This record gives sequence, C-alpha cells and structure tokens, in this order.
Amino acid sequence: MPIGAIAELMTGGGVCLSFEVFPPKQAENFEAVSRAALEIAALQPSFMSVTYGAGGTTDRYTLAVAQEIQEKHGLPALAHLTCIGADRAGVRARLEILRAAGVRNIMALRGDLPEGQMPASDYPYAADLVAEIKAFGGFCVGAACYPEGHVECGSPAEDRRNLKKKVDAGADFLTTQMFFDNDLLYKFLYQIREIGISAPVAAGIMPVTNGRQIARICRLSGTYLPARFRAIVDQYGDSPAAMQQAGIVYACEQIVDLLASGVNAIHVYSMNKPAVAAAIRDNLKHLIGECAC
Ligand code: FAD
Repeated sequence: MPIGAIAELMTGGGVCLSFEVFPPKQAENFEAVSRAALEIAALQPSFMSVTYGAGGTTDRYTLAVAQEIQEKHGLPALAHLTCIGADRAGVRARLEILRAAGVRNIMALRGDLPEGQMPASDYPYAADLVAEIKAFGGFCVGAACYPEGHVECGSPAEDRRNLKKKVDAGADFLTTQMFFDNDLLYKFLYQIREIGISAPVAAGIMPVTNGRQIARICRLSGTYLPARFRAIVDQYGDSPAAMQQAGIVYACEQIVDLLASGVNAIHVYSMNKPAVAAAIRDNLKHLIGECAC
C-alpha cells in the first residue's frame, strides 16, 4: 500500500473524516473552486476527494485541485477517475500523470454521461478500471457502493454481488452513495459482510442545502427520503438560509449516530461549500478530535 493510503487512514483506529469537492469545467471558474477547496482543506480533514467529469470533462482541473490540496495542506487527495468511453492507452497515460504528480489514491468509477449515452469502452464496469489500476501499481484504489442498490441494477442483492466483483478486482475501500436513513446503511454493511466483502466502507453524508433539488435527485436515483427529512424540505425548502441550517443539523445527527454505532469513516459531500464543511467540523469537534491523517 502506498504512503498516505486512504484505506489505512480508514482502519487506523481514529475517526476518518473526509470532504469532497468538484472541479470546474471551465478555466474561468478555476480560481473560485480552488479557493473553496483550499478553505475546506484548511479544516484538516483526514483526506479530500476531488471528483471527475465523466468522459474526462474536468481532467486537468481534477488533477490541479488534487495537487494544490496535497502541496498546500499536506493532506492526501483522492482523485476520482471514470472509465466510461475510455480506452486502455488513455487510462494508462492518465495513471502516469497522476503518479508523476504525487497522487497516490484514486476513486475508480464508471461514470454516467448525460442522457444515458453509453459509448464503447475498454472498461465496461468500474471493476475493470480497478483491475487496470491495481495492475499498474502504486495506488490505493477506492470504489463506489450503493446501500439502496444502484439505480440501473435489477435488485440490490444483484448490485451487492457486482460490488463483490469490484472488491475482488482489488478495490481497497468503498464509499457509499448518499443516504438519509442510517438503518439502510447498517443493513447494507451486514449484507456485504455476509457475502465476504471486508473492505472498509466510508459512509457518504450529504448536508442538504437545496431541498427541492435534492428531492428531484433522490427521485431519479431511488434514494429513500424519510418522512422526517421530507418534512424539513417542505418546511424550509423555499428559504435557502433555513434549509442550509436544517440540512447541516440533519447531517450532523446522522454522523453522531454513525460514530456512536462504530462507523468511523465519514465522507461528507461538501459540494465546494466551506461554510457547510466548517459547520460540520465544528459541530463534531469533541466527537472527532484530531482526524486520522
Ligand atoms: P459500476 O460499479 O460499474 O456499476 C454500474 C452498474 O453496473 C451497476 O448497476 C452495477 O450493479 C452493474 N454492474 C457492475 N458490474 C457488473 C457486471 N460484471 N455485470 C453486470 N452488471 C454489472 N460519477 C462521475 O462521473 N464522477 C465522479 O467523480 C463520481 N464520483 C462518485 C463517487 C461516489 C462515492 C459515488 C457513489 C458515485 C460517484 N459517481 C461519480 C457516480 C457514478 O459514476 C455513477 O453512480 C455510475 O452510474 C456508476 O458508477 P460505478 O463506478 O458504481 O459503476
């Protein structure tokens, strides 16, 4: 495992708290995103993840943001990479670039293109990309998992069997899709352990700041919204400041319950919002202490 391997931070004993940022698609937005990412990194989470536009729409900026985080804050960066429409030569070239830039952690994903286009790829599934990266060597590799099942899959049980293939291909750790009912995560963890998946799992928590938007996304992805959460959106969805405050409180409540139940790796979808990340970090300071890093 390379130095700074995220899988080791997740199993090191302390709480592993991570924040996610997404890079811009256009150069003119780079400065604002970079500033936000560095503000979030200054909160000293265990690591930061930087997403990737499916098909390579953000490749330069994913790398640039990941490098800045590592160089200016000394934190490991997890660079996402998708394989939809990718060929072997392109992926290997990308791995060379990441390695030369000092990135040691990659989140291997299939990705989605707008309007569901599925172009030919040397890697039909993320498991194929995981295997490629492990064969290349020198990277700790993460993969996505879905407590409620992936939306394209026939059943959650089949999706868990497909997840096992991804772990068998070499995924060192997993991060979940957002969920709003912790019981779904506890059940999922039990079910994947039962089929022999022992990789560490980070719970993906989304502090909701735009209630209407999240309701739409959850409808499309099949994410369950508990009545308690829907009531918050109904009450505060039209007031951005109130919704943000309620979203942060809801996310913190989820995290407190997860930590108390022994789930020590928490990944926050902080969406380039330093104020949200800071509020979560602050609300949990006595539970989290120094992050594992
Ligand atoms: P896969 O693991 O390949 O699974 C895709 C579908 O194929 C599933 O339904 C699965 O059950 C099925 N499947 C897998 N293997 C097989 C098999 N052998 N035979 C038959 N069916 C199979 N998207 C981005 O574009 N950029 C990002 O940076 C990004 N980051 C993400 C981070 C996290 C933590 C998560 C949860 C998602 C992220 N996504 C990102 C979204 C992701 O790309 C989509 O959810 C995509 O639809 C599936 O990606 P995957 O890597 O899980 O795919």
